[in-house]
Amino acid sequence: MDFRWPDPIAELSAEAHRVGRAAAASRAVREDSWLIGTSREFSLELAERGWLGMTWPVEEGGGGRSALERFAVFEALISEGAPLATSWFADRQIGPTLLQFGTPEQRARWLPEIIAGRSAWSIGMSEPDAGSDVASLRTPAVRRGDRWVVNGQKIWTSGAADADWCYLIARTDPDAPAHAGLSELVVDLHSPGIDIRPIVDATGNAHFCEVHLDGVEVPTENLVGAENGSFKQVMRQMEHERGGIDRLVSNRRLYLDVVGAVHHDDPLVRQEVAALESGYRIGRLMVLREVLGQAPPGFSAVTKTFCTEFEQRVADLCARVAGADALLWDRVARNVCYAPAYTIMGGTTSILRNIVGERVLGLPREPRPERSTQVADR
Ligand SMILES: Cc1cc2nc3c(=O)[nH]c(=O)nc-3n(C[C@H](O)[C@H](O)[C@H](O)COP(=O)(O)OP(=O)(O)OC[C@H]3O[C@@H](n4cnc5c(N)ncnc54)[C@H](O)[C@@H]3O)c2cc1C
Repeated sequence: MDFRWPDPIAELSAEAHRVGRAAAASRAVREDSWLIGTSREFSLELAERGWLGMTWPVEEGGGGRSALERFAVFEALISEGAPLATSWFADRQIGPTLLQFGTPEQRARWLPEIIAGRSAWSIGMSEPDAGSDVASLRTPAVRRGDRWVVNGQKIWTSGAADADWCYLIARTDPDAPAHAGLSELVVDLHSPGIDIRPIVDATGNAHFCEVHLDGVEVPTENLVGAENGSFKQVMRQMEHERGGIDRLVSNRRLYLDVVGAVHHDDPLVRQEVAALESGYRIGRLMVLREVLGQAPPGFSAVTKTFCTEFEQRVADLCARVAGADALLWDRVARNVCYAPAYTIMGGTTSILRNIVGERVLGLPREPRPERSTQVADR
């Protein structure tokens, strides 16, 4: 098998590396740039280059380009540490969700501003008492005339403090079975009644937030897909969230910088570098199968598990080969503190292993208490 890119894709990848390197040049931290690297300016640049909504249909304003081209661009940009966070959630999953479940009016309203790099989105699923178990989400939305009135709290909402919109899951039917009463609302984060409080993480960064909603009014036309039908929709959205290249290359730049600076005459280091190089290639093939639509249903749980555990191995290797210097080398110390997050966000590894066992491999399931039988894990 020939693993080389065809020439046009290789050129596109080289161009994206150049653009990403320039955009990251002045940034102290280049890791996790798809999650913490905010820049409205860079979003506009991505739009100008046609790198937002790249694969979306031309008739919807998208680029109509191939999944391989998008893969090549974002592998390069994230590996270089380009500040993508402002546009990433919209490009990765909100746009595809609107294309699949949105009405023509909703698509006409929101897709053009995403493609133009002019709007930033966040995802409001997790709550203080509901993370893995989506069916236990509580935040109620009550219909009053042509509005939904939302009261409640979301937590760990990445990028909310810099975002314009939150794609929120709310409970719209409190009497339905837990998994059957949830709907998806697009909430304007500038609405009255919204209070966003950034949470400082172990690295000192404050990209994720608490979002408090107190009597927030959301027009009924902002409900996406089926009323009380979020449960199935969200599973589809998770596929976009889990199977992408962002799960493999978050700390690629750090790896390249650290490995470039260590002594390769140590056979133990050489062996570990070889293992990570193989791991990178395996993860890349898994992601490629996802983006090309060649993976079996639910397989993104396997891809995300492998890739995010790989990112943790990268952080671990960087710390060990840098030795005591890791404490002085800010980027290594930061990444070691941050790495546990890789296997939590977007669904924890324990949950994903359950999905692999039960839904992908069809292994028998241990009987669980009655409430949990209605629950599908995030
Ligand atoms: C960096 C970062 C960014 C995030 N960004 C967002 C965001 O933008 N929007 C958003 O909505 N959320 C976001 N999250 C939240 C994330 O999705 C949740 O943390 C995750 O789904 C786990 O939920 P929880 O924290 O409530 O843990 P819990 O669900 O309480 O789980 C706690 C532990 O119990 C285990 N566990 C739970 N249930 C089972 C089970 N059935 N079988 C086996 N083990 C189980 C879990 O694996 C975990 O180890 C983010 C999290 C992080 C770390």
